Amino acid sequence: MSITKTKSYTLGLRCRECLKEYPIQPHHVCEDCFGPLEAVYDYAAIKKVLTREKILSRKHTMWRYQELLPLDQDPTVGLEVGYTPFYRSRRLAQTLGLKELYIKNDAVNFPTLSFKDRVVAVALSKAKEFGMNIVACASTGNLANSLAANAAQAGLESYIFIPADLEQGKVLGTLVFGSHVIGIRGNYDEVNRLCSEIADKYGWAFVNINIRPFYGEGSKTYTYEILEQLGWRAPQHVVVPMAGGSLITKVKKAIKEFYDLGLTEDASTKMHGAQAEGCGPIVHAVIAGNDLFKPEKPNTIAKSLAIGNPADGYYAIKAIKESGGWAATATDEEIVEAMKLLATTEGIFTETAGGVTLAALKKLIQSGHIPPDESVVLSITGNGLKTQEALVGKVGVPELIDAKLSEFDRIYKKP
Ligand SMILES: *Cc1c(COP(=O)(O)O)cnc(C)c1O
Ligand SMILES: [Zn+2]
Repeated sequence: MSITKTKSYTLGLRCRECLKEYPIQPHHVCEDCFGPLEAVYDYAAIKKVLTREKILSRKHTMWRYQELLPLDQDPTVGLEVGYTPFYRSRRLAQTLGLKELYIKNDAVNFPTLSFKDRVVAVALSKAKEFGMNIVACASTGNLANSLAANAAQAGLESYIFIPADLEQGKVLGTLVFGSHVIGIRGNYDEVNRLCSEIADKYGWAFVNINIRPFYGEGSKTYTYEILEQLGWRAPQHVVVPMAGGSLITKVKKAIKEFYDLGLTEDASTKMHGAQAEGCGPIVHAVIAGNDLFKPEKPNTIAKSLAIGNPADGYYAIKAIKESGGWAATATDEEIVEAMKLLATTEGIFTETAGGVTLAALKKLIQSGHIPPDESVVLSITGNGLKTQEALVGKVGVPELIDAKLSEFDRIYKKP
């Protein structure tokens, strides 16, 4: 059941810095000032069609907000993505001393168990509109999984570039889909630099490079869902993991769009950013009171967030500051502790990025940036089955016995 649109609501692309306008094309930087390009919508027209009732009448996927995504036709890739669980936490909230804590769980997003399925669905649908048949990305892991899976389903050839030292689960979970996977001896920032050169030379649809203005918009659906699932309400706080810093800037954009369209009555959410201590350029800038970040050389188990030179870092810092939010980092040890805490209190096995986010939430409560009686959303964006290395030797081993009742009796300690 697709949603048939009568027209596109995307007017074009515009430079975030000098506001120069561009037609809709696979292009991501301004020719005049090198600022990033962004999709521009006809909000007046969207306001007339996109009501709460209209959204509620549609299928439970990310496409229920289709008018706010930069496609000219109905989507053709990732039709089942999104509308992941959102619920009020009891046990974790109690442990943290929070009155009103919610969890948005993209660890079970379809098809590849991370929020990256949202950005890929838009990017590949757009690449097909452009008639581009070879798709590619530079990835810290989850984007690789998602691009590979969605490209396979769409019948598109894919080239995926990753740092060679990624987790097994992320590497196998890319290779299985039949993609061309290229491991680079180097970190993500080096992979990304190479990919920019390849994009220029070969003209492929690099979802997070030349298709980036469209790709990033897919992230907004994570927040639209939070707002809808909270009963058309904006939370007072949201804690968001940051890699390139795109997701957190789109949290801000989504909250503002829903408010401007009259779908919610409040837009004063404080946005808090989370990164690993071993790769936290955005957080370190926020804490130091700087508008610009200093690139870092990543050294953390949170590989999915290990971007030392974040493409949207400047805008992420700005979004955090303007919202009145704050930021915190997590050490490798704190990441593992938080992964275990989420698992043992909520039954959610998140990846290292989720550990970073929960560890940051704990610190933000301790530092008073998140008061215990205010509403908070914890963003869980990836699945723990993909980063099992992080927990090996940290959660014990099964007790080993022969298949005999007497053996079980021997080890069973009555409570
Ligand atoms: C990519 C990713 C993020 C954040 O990505 P941005 O580049 O900041 O948009 C967060 N969590 C997980 C699990 C990711 O894979
Ligand atoms: Zn410009």
